[in-house]
Amino acid sequence: MAKGRDKHQARKQELSLFGKDLVRRCGAQCEMCGDSGVPLSIFEIPPVPNEPDFDRCAMFCDTCQEQIDFPKRRDNDHWRCLNGAIWSEVAIVKALAVAMLGKIAAKEEWAVDLQDQVYLQAGEQELIDQISPELK
Ligand SMILES: [Zn+2]
Repeated sequence: MAKGRDKHQARKQELSLFGKDLVRRCGAQCEMCGDSGVPLSIFEIPPVPNEPDFDRCAMFCDTCQEQIDFPKRRDNDHWRCLNGAIWSEVAIVKALAVAMLGKIAAKEEWAVDLQDQVYLQAGEQELIDQISPELK
């Protein structure tokens, strides 16, 4: 059986196949906060499937990735970017944005207000329901 580190490397290599298309899709901007001129890397939106899936990947900056993974480092003001991200045309980014908004809304009044603006299309709630329990 492959060791953890080897597994991690293998996964990275598999994901790198998506790199070109993701770079094109994101237009050199973080797909969550819209930041440009910062390093972006592939983020797999949880629950992470066994096989890498392009439709569950996004290009995010380090700040977004860190704050998604580590709630204790979360700066709620950073997440005002959800104002834009909840309108993303990329289904998985939109779903993650709405799921994150649910987390932030537990603490911030502006996030509760923003929740009123969320407009979901058919099938999107299902995706959000998959992601929400995975977020800390
Ligand atoms: Zn970002």
